[in-house]
Amino acid sequence: MPDSHDQIFLVSACLTGLCTRYDGVSKPSSACMQRLRGQRWIPVCPEQLGGLATPRTAADLVGGDGNDVLAGRAAVIDRQGQDVSRQFIHGARQCLALARVQQISTALLKARSPSCGLNGKTGVTAALLAANGIRIIEF
Ligand code: SF4
Repeated sequence: MPDSHDQIFLVSACLTGLCTRYDGVSKPSSACMQRLRGQRWIPVCPEQLGGLATPRTAADLVGGDGNDVLAGRAAVIDRQGQDVSRQFIHGARQCLALARVQQISTALLKARSPSCGLNGKTGVTAALLAANGIRIIEF
């Protein structure tokens, strides 16, 4: 879908300079911000929306990708061995709900994240948004 000035983008909060990452820092992307320049956009961090603290223990997809976690065939396990699948799924649903309310059709998401990543091992939020027809651009 071509961009229009009526469009609103969902964007991974850490790409915009917000310190939402597991280690309490951001991962700002000038390319992402350039893409958003002059547009309307909403920063979201699905792991925070899922109820996890910042900073928090890093977590990994285990036994599959985000699609598998959503289907109950895999899990997200943090590096202390805690299963945080429920929080990851809750955060993904919060992002989808926001996208629906705001009629968002494109999300700019952080690559190589167990929530936001798309290529490689698809994250939980990326999987849920993609399954619901939202276009994802990775940064
Ligand atoms: S969950 Fe997504 S938005 Fe939040 S810190 Fe990780 S990559 Fe960034």
